[in-house]
Amino acid sequence: MQIVAVVWICNCLKIKGYCMHDKLVYALKIPRSQGRAGSTPAPGTTHTRKLNTKRGRLKRPLFFSVLSPMGTTASAEAMEETVMEKGAQMMVKGCDPGGCQALCCYDGVYLLPGEAELIRAVVQRYPEHFPNLPEDFIVNGAWPDGTEGVKTATRPFAFSTDDFPLHFNQTKCVFATADHMCLLQALAVEFGVHKWTFKPTACWLFPLTIEEGELAPPPMPGEPDPDYVDASYPGYVTFVPCGKFTPGGEPWQEAFAEEIAFFETVDQLPLWANRGLPLEEIIERAKL
Ligand code: SF4
Repeated sequence: MQIVAVVWICNCLKIKGYCMHDKLVYALKIPRSQGRAGSTPAPGTTHTRKLNTKRGRLKRPLFFSVLSPMGTTASAEAMEETVMEKGAQMMVKGCDPGGCQALCCYDGVYLLPGEAELIRAVVQRYPEHFPNLPEDFIVNGAWPDGTEGVKTATRPFAFSTDDFPLHFNQTKCVFATADHMCLLQALAVEFGVHKWTFKPTACWLFPLTIEEGELAPPPMPGEPDPDYVDASYPGYVTFVPCGKFTPGGEPWQEAFAEEIAFFETVDQLPLWANRGLPLEEIIERAKL
């Protein structure tokens, strides 16, 4: 199979043949020879929030957000130079939702085509698992750069962490639990299916991104935050603990080995949405 048509007019993440901004993508077929073993051609379309990234295409740089979100400091510059001199790889501390109070969920998540339908089906089928969801748990939203999309709703939440980014809202996804976990993941675990069966792609991939079809780590010190808009919104992933360069942390490939392994096994993204399968069959197929 050949690439029959590709029209990228945005700088968003491209996920296995998908673009975040579904309204901007027209057609894409991935050559089977370039796909993963056993993969099926990706049916076109898609969009998301946190997946927003194509490094190097930002109009303005963000200097060393690890220590100084709004600019450089002497220590930040020193660390950046040290990192670059050593040719170091991205070091992170991994996911700790209890520690950061699930900061990555502060704005909910923008959904890939099909994911809203899947989540609605899950909620409708198992309402007892979602007792406190608002009626409108999926809404239309706009990312700070103006990108619009369908996303999970949020509700007020008072983050109490010391390093809460002031440009983030004090809100949290309606699917977040009181102990900073995810109801969609909890239900999957309860069913004995893969824990990310119902979870939006952007959630389980975060803070990784996809560049040229391959997973990539968050920006290194000195690299721009892909979601930098301006001084009022200087970025996203580099302000979340798991997306920050952490001296003494683990290489990103080790910290996110589970995400990398899962990404290598799924044949298309979103994994289950867009296949037209009834929920019961999805659950049956996703059993571990
Ligand atoms: S769906 Fe779950 S992981 Fe994703 S933003 Fe909401 S609570 Fe967080």
